Amino acid sequence: MTYIIAEPCVDILDRACVEECPVDCIYEGKRMLYIHPDECVDCGACEPACPVEAIFYEDDLPEEWNDYYDANVGFFDELGSPGGAAAEGPKDFDHPFVAALPPMNQE
Ligand code: SF4
Ligand code: SF4
Repeated sequence: MTYIIAEPCVDILDRACVEECPVDCIYEGKRMLYIHPDECVDCGACEPACPVEAIFYEDDLPEEWNDYYDANVGFFDELGSPGGAAAEGPKDFDHPFVAALPPMNQE
């Protein structure tokens, strides 16, 4: 099981969650952040830190955002399990599902 970042993060990515994660498993893409499903230890620390409530425990992910489960997992197809987001730094790509979304969360 893991935590999942969903649609409210897209084009926000303020990184408030990153500072809370004790295992540095929240990785930055171009338009949102992604939680590594194998590196996450399910501590839940990131969830309340998100100002837009984008983070959900896997079982609690709203059905309308099911695609974000695949996006969080699939983002790491190329990256594998680097073992730390800080050393990786921001990536200039997203999961294809996220990359194809129209501009979001803009006033
Ligand atoms: S649940 Fe804990 S380990 Fe998993 S991403 Fe959030 S802060 Fe990191
Ligand atoms: S705190 Fe929320 S909006 Fe900010 S980067 Fe993390 S998931 Fe995205």
